[in-house]
Amino acid sequence: MKFGCHVSAAGGVDNCPSRAQAVGAEVFQFFSRSPQGGPSPKLTKEIIANFQAGLKKYRQQAYIHAPYYINFASVSPRIRHGSISVIRQELERGSLLGASALMTHLGSSKDVGESLGTKMVTQGLIKVLKGYQGTCRFLIENSAGSGQIIGDTFEEIAAIIKGVEKVLGKNKIGVCLDTAHAFASGYDLRTPAKVREVLKKFDQVIGLKRLALIHGNDSKVDFKSFKDRHEHIGLGKIGLIGFKTLVGIKKLVQVNLIIETPADETRGDQENLAVLKKLGHE
Ligand SMILES: [Zn+2]
Ligand SMILES: [Zn+2]
Repeated sequence: MKFGCHVSAAGGVDNCPSRAQAVGAEVFQFFSRSPQGGPSPKLTKEIIANFQAGLKKYRQQAYIHAPYYINFASVSPRIRHGSISVIRQELERGSLLGASALMTHLGSSKDVGESLGTKMVTQGLIKVLKGYQGTCRFLIENSAGSGQIIGDTFEEIAAIIKGVEKVLGKNKIGVCLDTAHAFASGYDLRTPAKVREVLKKFDQVIGLKRLALIHGNDSKVDFKSFKDRHEHIGLGKIGLIGFKTLVGIKKLVQVNLIIETPADETRGDQENLAVLKKLGHE
């Protein structure tokens, strides 16, 4: 398991590999466009070459985080269609850059109810992935929340994957498991036994071979609080034991872990990564 963090793409995405290296990240994720909206910056041949040279030089793997406004179940055609085209663009851009995968949240069914919402997401993802031949893998990220948020349970994610693959064929979709989101949504990760139980459940419902990446975030909020608040590794409600267990699981040796905790006066990325590396080697 390799450890990394989210890095800024300010000044161009080709700045990301050296920024990741500077904080001790072995892998990293970034936004290839503004997470709030607007057109994507052009990927020139030079930017692509620089980016790939950086990956090679520092032996890194890169992941792209989709923008925040994605909602495949919005009643607004502008948001719905925008979500489809942006995710497809991001997959193609990721393939050009040599990124391993792109993860996205699916959206909220607050406009339409859960059953129609799930259908809309499935239809949307079929449009995203139809004819896609790129190398950047598509990942669904589990979300934190109660009923209206789509993708907060393993069952919901599995049903969407099944619906998409029924039409497009198998093995199109992977999953990014966010530990803080899972914990807030009712998957307990506080003890070794509980961590193993959650992974067993994941394997039974989704399949462990689909687990492509872990967003390793501790949680500021309590178990089953259905809120999304990240905390530094070991300082939140999940705690060190949970992360120590997770990073020590042999079956996950090929699965990388990326932290998404904003730097503050307590810790920055470098310190969180040092904690993880220590846990991984204990
Ligand atoms: Zn996340
Ligand atoms: Zn989050």
